[in-house]
Amino acid sequence: MSVGSILILPGDGIGPEVMAEVRRIIDWYADKRDLSFDVSEDLVGGAAYDKHGVPLADETMAKAQEVDAVLLGAVGGPKYDDLDFSVKPERGLLRLRKEMDLFSNLRPAQCFDALAHFSSLKEEVIAGLDIMIVRELTSGVYFGEPRGIFEEGNERVGINTQRYTESEIDRVARSAFELAMKRDKRLCSMEKANVMESGILWREIVTEVARDYPEVELSHMYADAGAMQLTRWPKQFDVIVTDNLFGDILSDVAAMLTGSLGMLPSASLGAPMENGRPKALYEPVHGSAPDIAGQGKANPIACITSFAMALRYSFDLGEEADRLEAAVETVLADGKRTADLLGDEGVTPVSTSDMGDAILAALDASL
Ligand code: NAD
Repeated sequence: MSVGSILILPGDGIGPEVMAEVRRIIDWYADKRDLSFDVSEDLVGGAAYDKHGVPLADETMAKAQEVDAVLLGAVGGPKYDDLDFSVKPERGLLRLRKEMDLFSNLRPAQCFDALAHFSSLKEEVIAGLDIMIVRELTSGVYFGEPRGIFEEGNERVGINTQRYTESEIDRVARSAFELAMKRDKRLCSMEKANVMESGILWREIVTEVARDYPEVELSHMYADAGAMQLTRWPKQFDVIVTDNLFGDILSDVAAMLTGSLGMLPSASLGAPMENGRPKALYEPVHGSAPDIAGQGKANPIACITSFAMALRYSFDLGEEADRLEAAVETVLADGKRTADLLGDEGVTPVSTSDMGDAILAALDASL
């Protein structure tokens, strides 16, 4: 029985290498759990430019609008650095995010015990950390008008506008409350209501939405205090919801608490489709890593845990997502490390496909 449809866009650099390991995991679910997905694959980024002269073909965009989940590897590379801005590989990714209207960006910060000593924070502060930052992705100061650099008197002035409508705040707040319901039922909303009117409105609307989620404990924090608390004692949080600008910064802070770039998954969700599932794009946070591409050195875990997020948030298979994340945890606890996770003396790095083999073996052992 098909659980749903997935469009795979491996992209450039290490994208195809890490995605190959995800394909093996998708096959494992079909073989061993009777959960088969209707999978198609297409081009994005530089790979799409090479074939079509654009970083995302219209047909690929149309396909992305129809499937239950899009899984993306990474885009970009030095070969494309001199291309015109309009056809740069990143434009393919931005087009997907914009046309799918993916307004809710989920960035988990989860610390696997075996890697707790990689953090710049003390081990006891970070061990067992499992928080989620929900960042509004399609509005706020990165999009508000007026914007630009203007002449004013005898000097120039740079202007950006922080702007949020009630409905924009409402929909991202709802997605954060829904998420909190699937987790520890605690939500902290962060803004700067002390100095920004958009923050006052943000706080008001989030408080209104909370009435529909009486089981979730809502708190509010100024974003600057939130940044301090995130580095002081991050385990106090469960889900954090915040705007585009603060979310950009706070999610990077939270992510880096946990160590390597090769470990960080993400999801971007939009409005529900006819079948009730949200439009969704899952991707590792890292880029195409041209410095190690083609050498079998890439860590596939961020891409694999991005697929775990798809299991949880697109296909409502939370227990299978737990199984996959537990398999990753087991492999790390056994001491398997790709080169980016070295630092422990006497550990020899494993290749991308060795890491995939080990995760598949741990999945087998979970049955
Ligand atoms: P990067 O994330 O590609 O690499 C930064 C460093 O981290 C490199 O040393 C790389 O080897 C290492 N690294 C990243 N992912 C890893 C993994 N899975 N396993 C092991 N090591 C890993 O960032 P960058 O070097 O700034 O950018 C390279 C290219 O990627 C650029 O063209 C950039 O525009 C693009 N990029 C794409 C995305 C995306 O597709 N979402 C995001 C960021 C950068």
